[in-house]
Amino acid sequence: MSLELARRLDAADPLASFRDRFVVDDPTLIYLDGNSLGRLPKATAERVRDTVERQWGSRLIRSWGEAEWVSLPQRLGAKVAGLLGARADEVLVCDSTSVNFYKLVRAALALDPTRRRVVTDAANFPSDLYLLQGIEGLTITRVPSEGVVTPPETIEAALADDVALLTLSHVSFKSGQLHDMARLTDSAHRVGARVLWDLSHSVGAVPLALSECQADMAVGCGYKYLNGGPGSPAFLYVRHDLQDRLVSPIQGWFGQRDAFDFSLEYQPATGISRFLAGTPPVLAMVALEPGVDLLMEAGMSALREKSIRQTELLIQLWEEELAPLGVTLNSPREALGRGSHVSLGHPEAWRINQALIQTESVIPDFRAPDTIRFGITPLYTSFEEVAEAMSRLRRVIQTRSYERFSESRAAVT
Ligand SMILES: *Cc1c(COP(=O)(O)O)cnc(C)c1O
Repeated sequence: MSLELARRLDAADPLASFRDRFVVDDPTLIYLDGNSLGRLPKATAERVRDTVERQWGSRLIRSWGEAEWVSLPQRLGAKVAGLLGARADEVLVCDSTSVNFYKLVRAALALDPTRRRVVTDAANFPSDLYLLQGIEGLTITRVPSEGVVTPPETIEAALADDVALLTLSHVSFKSGQLHDMARLTDSAHRVGARVLWDLSHSVGAVPLALSECQADMAVGCGYKYLNGGPGSPAFLYVRHDLQDRLVSPIQGWFGQRDAFDFSLEYQPATGISRFLAGTPPVLAMVALEPGVDLLMEAGMSALREKSIRQTELLIQLWEEELAPLGVTLNSPREALGRGSHVSLGHPEAWRINQALIQTESVIPDFRAPDTIRFGITPLYTSFEEVAEAMSRLRRVIQTRSYERFSESRAAVT
């Protein structure tokens, strides 16, 4: 029944052909982990080969100018800005999300040394929390989550006039909760605090409107929904009117006013470029562009519409077939309150996830202690894959086929 419905939805899907633009060498594999590592766009393999063989191999150092390697952070940033609802001169592609987060937190804290409190929530990505913990003299208020969500009222209750910064994952990595960016940004501004959004699970997954929300700063990941490849460089956003008031704590030569005058005193560049540190990783940078182009071509509102239909289908199947087997929904029930992945919970989640990967040809991922995340990437996920994955999940639980897998966890989950 559900499989037939899913096939009908695929037949009517205007985005279905985008799947052919990705390398899918095993059509039997149901890949639901594009929120952790996006698939490889076919165009990327060609682009990287050209960069290695022609630009680097033949043209050598001349490519810094000829192939515009030197302006990749700004040029790719301008493209990513299109997915963020930001101005082209407000975004840079550089470094990792963690490093960008650190740079912007430090820069924001320096704006007003009398404010030393940072508000975040327990559902935030641990790396962000660790980075905050590493900054001396800060008071961190970690608002607790209630069940799978952190209600906006709880966050707002923690905001006061000693708060320098509110920082949250816009879409939570575990539950997929989607925060109300406009509301919370406004609430923080009312007490004079700045806001730093981590968009790692939002960019390429949900439409964003940073300018409209008057967001101050943001960071996000290149290798998830942007399909930039393993360890792809991340991005950062700083609203244009703040750029010349913030100074990066990592004062490298690429953020210097004129890197190639080799002057002995640091003077930050004007505009967004001051947040650069060192030489851009060119091979990784060029690999990011085709994935971003595909998202732009499909359009974020069409992608969001499909993503909602697919997550709704998944949740409907959970309700009918998995909830009776003791599987919980660890994501918000309302489509408008979640991003593009759905988390299901079970005390045996680790072993069930192993069984899915090793015997059912389904790749989701496990998040401790009891969650399996199913990432929906509407550029290449089909409705049939969603329905089929749920049916295989039911089989694993019903037959207890997971029991032959070890309970000890791998280093990377
Ligand atoms: C994936 C992710 C990161 C990753 O940071 P890296 O520095 O690239 O390892 C950061 N924040 C969030 C919310 C993430 O989901």
